Amino acid sequence: MTPRLVLAMNLEALSELANVNDEGAARCFLRKHPGFVKLPAGLREEIAAVGRPEEMMTVVLAGYLQRIWKREQHTDKLLTAMLIDPDPLKASDKWMSAQIRQIQAEPPDVFSAFSFAAIQSVLTADMKRGSFTYKPYTDFHAGLYELLTQSHRVKTCLNADCPAPYFVATRAQQMYCGPKCAESARRAAKLRYWNEVGAQRREKTKRKARKK
Ligand SMILES: [Zn+2]
Repeated sequence: MTPRLVLAMNLEALSELANVNDEGAARCFLRKHPGFVKLPAGLREEIAAVGRPEEMMTVVLAGYLQRIWKREQHTDKLLTAMLIDPDPLKASDKWMSAQIRQIQAEPPDVFSAFSFAAIQSVLTADMKRGSFTYKPYTDFHAGLYELLTQSHRVKTCLNADCPAPYFVATRAQQMYCGPKCAESARRAAKLRYWNEVGAQRREKTKRKARKK
């Protein structure tokens, strides 16, 4: 497999994860992508006591990904924290508490939560490439970095009833996740036209007919 294809697969898995809405969907995701999200062993033991922890954590994580996908306020900082921290849930917690501090009129500062060594272990200035180089901890992190570099293709489906609205478009102009949603949107627009414009027109023809 080419490195390009691996990156695309990680981003695809990440968009599947973003669409996880309940523990049932989480179970399916975990079965299909075992080891994609690797929680540190300590944390796994800590939450194992709560019961069905992995599914629960997956749903929580999906909620954070959805915020990034929808480009909610300050999610650039959330993405930064997730890229730097090996534990995506802890990173999200740090972001959340920075958000809360900001509501209390303190400047949000997610970086102070990280040591310079932690930042340096993933991010290095690369003179040869003329950019920073990011070294992902896991496939999940590789997917996140791909999401960042491919952000113009990271979209939310415009069909309000879409069952999996968080997708990666093949073209930047694409507005629906697939032909099914595009078709149902076309049908809905036609119906709206029939109900609004069509009704006025039918009324007009009726009036004309009465005048005759
Ligand atoms: Zn859709």
